[in-house]
Amino acid sequence: MVQPPFPGVRRLNIQKTRMLWSRDVNVKFGKLLSNIELTSDSVVARFDDGSSEIGNVLVGADGGSSWIRRWMLGDGAASTVLPYTFLNFPVRYTAEQALKMDKMMHPIVDVGVHPKSMYVGIFLLDKPHLDKPETWIFYLLATWPRDDQADTSENMNMVDELRRRMDGWAEPYKSAVEWIPSDVRAKVVPFKIWAPKTDWDNHGGRVTLAGDAAHSMTFHRGQGANNAVCDSERFVRAMLKVKSGDMTLAEAVAEYDQDVITRGKQEVEVSRVQTEAFHDYDNFLNSPIMKHGIKPISEDSSGKAS
Ligand SMILES: Cc1cc2nc3c(=O)[nH]c(=O)nc-3n(C[C@H](O)[C@H](O)[C@H](O)COP(=O)(O)OP(=O)(O)OC[C@H]3O[C@@H](n4cnc5c(N)ncnc54)[C@H](O)[C@@H]3O)c2cc1C
Repeated sequence: MVQPPFPGVRRLNIQKTRMLWSRDVNVKFGKLLSNIELTSDSVVARFDDGSSEIGNVLVGADGGSSWIRRWMLGDGAASTVLPYTFLNFPVRYTAEQALKMDKMMHPIVDVGVHPKSMYVGIFLLDKPHLDKPETWIFYLLATWPRDDQADTSENMNMVDELRRRMDGWAEPYKSAVEWIPSDVRAKVVPFKIWAPKTDWDNHGGRVTLAGDAAHSMTFHRGQGANNAVCDSERFVRAMLKVKSGDMTLAEAVAEYDQDVITRGKQEVEVSRVQTEAFHDYDNFLNSPIMKHGIKPISEDSSGKAS
């Protein structure tokens, strides 16, 4: 009926990408940030093991429940929980099933909507050994409107609930759920978003945010990591302006913040609208993903899509 645009899509395995991009970067793992101190011209990050780091700018890229966002904005940093049940878990099938699934599904992702208000997505995450289909890792995602009376306690295996909801689904969704091994378990994950409402105080350019900490959106339009990568590029661009003397640190970070806040606000809202549309079958064809695909909607000041 429609062919939504999916320009330049790349599949990134997050673990492999992290390994690749951290090459030659001095990453210190296992540290929990627990305090931030500002001096007149620098910022100190203090960690719970007693260690600290000092620098010119601290970028809070600590995810959707960002501690740094809370330090900057207090109660204004609290996420909103959307009224959907959300499951996501990896799964391996038998060799025979994995081969069949690989043939049935799109090479990156298959996304299905059901008139009974439900979304199911199947991703093929990785083929660690090409010749051993039993090692291939698939990933299932499902959302449906939350029923506040339903049992979603810690002990509840939500895979059973998902199986119960699969009546009437076509392939590959039907088999993707039917073939889940009986020992696979999944819990409900709170479905949270956060969008910047106003400018934040970046303390003269010494503290800012990036990625999910700055704009945490639903996954239904696949824009979270995309925007996080864009933030990184914009941040580096800002730092180059400081290095070349074109801008002061305060000016460059203010310009960076403006872009992150404007783009973040817009994408969090578009993704939220897309989430609603995935659970509103009659209106699905009018939804952002059917019009724009997963093309970024925001444009920068030069008019170029980001
Ligand atoms: C199911 C699902 C599907 C998705 N699909 C897509 C997709 O198709 N396309 C897309 O673009 N995006 C997608 N996303 C979104 C994407 O995963 C996120 O936007 C991206 O991971 C955000 O990266 P980040 O580095 O900002 O945050 P995170 O990946 O959350 O990383 C934050 C890091 O900060 C660390 N941290 C937290 N608190 C502290 C602290 N106090 N001290 C020290 N460290 C701390 C955490 O341990 C973590 O390592 C999806 C998300 C989900 C959940």
